[in-house]
Amino acid sequence: MKQLYRSYDESTEIFKQFQEKYPNYFKMESIGKTWEKRDINLITISSDIKSADNNPALFFTGTIHAREWVGHELGIEFATYILDNLETDPTLQSYLKNITIYMVPCANPDGYEYSRNHFSFWRKNRRVNADGSYGVDLNRNFPIGYVKSTATTSNVYGGPEPFSEPETRALRDFVEAHENITIALDYHSQGNVFFPAHDFRHEDTIDTTDMNTLCANMAEEIRKISGREYGIHQGKPPTKLISGSGREFYHSRGIISSVVEVGTRNISDYMDDMNEHLREHIPALLAAVKEVPNYSEKNSVYRVKSFETTEIGSNHANLKWSYETDKNIFFEIYRSLKDKNFCNPSNLIARTQSLEFSDINLQSNIDYFYNIRVVNKKTGEKSPFYPQIRLRTDPDYDEFSRTYYANAKETGYVAENLNDNSKHFGVNSLFVGVDENKGVSYAIVTINLKSLHSDALIKSATFNLYPINRVSTTIEKYGEWNVGIVDPDSIKDITNFDDVENMKILRYIGRPTESHQLTQGIWRSWHLSGLECLDLQQLASSTEKIVLRVEGPKELRVGRTRQMMQWDIGYGKFGYGLGYRPRLELTYTMKPTITELYPKAVYTVSKEEVKSDEISAGYDKDGSAIYSTFEFNLSSLPPYNDTFITKAYFELNSTKIYIKDDIRFHLEFVDENIDQDYKSITNREIIQNVGFDVSATELKNNQKQYFTFDTFSEITLNEKLKSKSDVAFVLKPTSSKKAIKNKSVSWEVKNKSLSPKLIIEHIPKRRNPVEKVSNAKIIKDNGKIKITWDNPKDEAFKGVKVIKNAYRKPYSTHDGQKIYAGVDDYTFDDFGAKDINKYYAIFTYDDVPNYSKPVILEYQVK
Ligand SMILES: [Zn+2]
Repeated sequence: MKQLYRSYDESTEIFKQFQEKYPNYFKMESIGKTWEKRDINLITISSDIKSADNNPALFFTGTIHAREWVGHELGIEFATYILDNLETDPTLQSYLKNITIYMVPCANPDGYEYSRNHFSFWRKNRRVNADGSYGVDLNRNFPIGYVKSTATTSNVYGGPEPFSEPETRALRDFVEAHENITIALDYHSQGNVFFPAHDFRHEDTIDTTDMNTLCANMAEEIRKISGREYGIHQGKPPTKLISGSGREFYHSRGIISSVVEVGTRNISDYMDDMNEHLREHIPALLAAVKEVPNYSEKNSVYRVKSFETTEIGSNHANLKWSYETDKNIFFEIYRSLKDKNFCNPSNLIARTQSLEFSDINLQSNIDYFYNIRVVNKKTGEKSPFYPQIRLRTDPDYDEFSRTYYANAKETGYVAENLNDNSKHFGVNSLFVGVDENKGVSYAIVTINLKSLHSDALIKSATFNLYPINRVSTTIEKYGEWNVGIVDPDSIKDITNFDDVENMKILRYIGRPTESHQLTQGIWRSWHLSGLECLDLQQLASSTEKIVLRVEGPKELRVGRTRQMMQWDIGYGKFGYGLGYRPRLELTYTMKPTITELYPKAVYTVSKEEVKSDEISAGYDKDGSAIYSTFEFNLSSLPPYNDTFITKAYFELNSTKIYIKDDIRFHLEFVDENIDQDYKSITNREIIQNVGFDVSATELKNNQKQYFTFDTFSEITLNEKLKSKSDVAFVLKPTSSKKAIKNKSVSWEVKNKSLSPKLIIEHIPKRRNPVEKVSNAKIIKDNGKIKITWDNPKDEAFKGVKVIKNAYRKPYSTHDGQKIYAGVDDYTFDDFGAKDINKYYAIFTYDDVPNYSKPVILEYQVK
């Protein structure tokens, strides 16, 4: 099988032939010699090779790690694809008219040949080190974040100094001489993941959104072809960051830069899905090629100057931005439901020349992600993206929202063949699947739901896990990962493998995650169905906590050693922290209290007379309308600030019916100060119509009639609650016929059970946030950034959230990195870079949660 991979000499020969066959499009040159005197081949593809260096360019590198053969092979395949199609494919032609492709398909020819011919697991180049050992890891030999080491036999030995190696010097010299390069992609294997440059910083860089979007657009092309999901993982502290890599060097020169980890195995000494991988990466590469001009210095459009949220409701969000307006430009707004999503026509929600946008029809209590770029409509040039906005819509009027994090001590994993399973709780990560050494592994995630209100009715729930590593999931399309709710009666020792395996699962939640959907760096979510929410609710009310068991495949395939996924626990030294803990997101409402109100007064108002304590409606002997009016008092309801009316209906019972089928009645919400005389009633101002008309037929069939309040009437009723005033209604007859005389309906008044009633369902819910924090400041404490504040003294205060953003003052508690959530009055930004300006926003919240307006602290570099 290995023979199917081309040797270095073979690819050189192929490129020579291309050069002869396509001299206008293709060029091969040597940009340096390796230790073993091989030429380092660089190829250029352009629709006019002579002017190639004048166009913005993509820089492709592969196989800098000797055993990661797929880069070299993909380079050959990509070049072949373009040359085969360039003369017939108009899209390719239009790309290559303005864009150049440079490729070093094999950046480590000596190592590659050594790996092919001697030791397939070889990774470094073939330098002879001073101590006689061999090799430098070329992807640790660049200067950015370079770490000096004397461990020459290490697989990641970075060489005696940055650029000590001819291979890295060749790449450096070429990149430094070609400022037209705008995007650099470095191909490795394995992991099905993109690793964009991180700059060794906790904060995002101005082009983080650009890099994430580029990778996501490429990933989407891959998903279209094979269903395979690629992760995007920038890697931020506290993760161990890769030192001295090419990617960071390219990014330091202003190039959009990412590593692409192809496939699931290092050495491609298997061929099952090799062609599949190559095939899906060609459209992905073309998606990158398309973006090349947008990052060129010659691009006439630049990113917007700001991009902000100005308002969030439960169903809408308003955004604004700034730019020098110009009739030739417009803005594209993209909306996503997940972080690091693609931006393509399928989620382009607006093209506008305005500097603001109101997005309506959103769902309540959901995270939305917005991206913006500028387009020149004449040239088609697009700007880079402004850093992404993330927001969460408010809970709806009857909703509450909760995020529950896993409880550290009772969250961990148990493996069949390990004796010390209790040590896997509260630290590091969750291993789930099967492995030759560990055997079968389950994760246990315990979530304390004690604070959930006993009257809560769960409307929706999502369980989320953050995948940190899929490297050991070596087989694609084999096995699935499921989350089950454990029957509390079957729980014994959660740290004992047998006890965990014998747990009874009440219900598996959401849909299984299949192995090819596993990525790293992108949250995996299990959405609970209505029935699953109900189970969760019942369990929460009886046990106050739930235990979830995460399980993966339990058997290995012949000859395979592992099929294991690693999820973040968010605790301990190696966990990514608060933002990455397993969590359960709930949206719930409350069981309502029902209050029945009886009328304070009722009248029948006709042209002839006004009768109190009696109600009928219809037409009198002259054909004039007879109205019924009703007054209620709301003072028996709980206070407005802590109450939401969620439902209301008006009940009437008829007694005598003298009407024909063409009469209908409707109920109007009117001003409570209306006078009870015919003139005032006929000239009444209608605030809202309540519910639907009732027809004579319906009345005849049913003595009892309900007029159900619609959303607008409910809003009016809620407003009236604010002043605890009276409310008034008029029942009005209508007909399409002109002269109807002596037809009316009378309604019960005296009998209490049949009396007119205003039936109001309401829930206890605070309407307003608690006070903001006071006295907030940034101080330096032992070289760290510390933020302190005073919490408001209010029983309803439940905590604060601290959000960091380097590009805008966070408007939403989701717009940035979450630094802290809890009831303390200080926090540290443990990994915060001290050399960049940024904002910290402190929000207080109550139990809804209603968030206060943020208190913004500006961190300014002195
Ligand atoms: Zn690699």
